[in-house]
Amino acid sequence: MSDHSERDLLRELFPETAREEFGTGVSVTVPTLGLYPVADGRMALVSGGHLAELEPLEQKGSKAAHCDLCHVTRSRSEAGVFRVRATERTTLYLTLCLNTEHCQRRAGKQGLEALAARVLSLAAVGREE
Ligand SMILES: [Zn+2]
Repeated sequence: MSDHSERDLLRELFPETAREEFGTGVSVTVPTLGLYPVADGRMALVSGGHLAELEPLEQKGSKAAHCDLCHVTRSRSEAGVFRVRATERTTLYLTLCLNTEHCQRRAGKQGLEALAARVLSLAAVGREE
């Protein structure tokens, strides 16, 4: 999967972000693996040529949250709950640190790969709830 097609994919799914991200430069490379903040507090999980959109949910309660990516326990104010629509009928809920840069650094490539496998394999299988 080339960088070009990933960029097209991003542009297709997140037109506003793509404009922001790629509007100025011509040589922007989209990494093949990572979590990226997009518009309205949403996140995009990119792995190879695949992409899943994470939609933020309202915070409920004040219990500590366990991050599904870096596996650190955080306070509610430091973590967010995200809904991923893997398929029309399959929804996955993820708790992630709001400071995704630090979170991804802690998790490392392996952690990101594991998360991507969890989310994107679900999308591929299309399992019903
Ligand atoms: Zn985290």
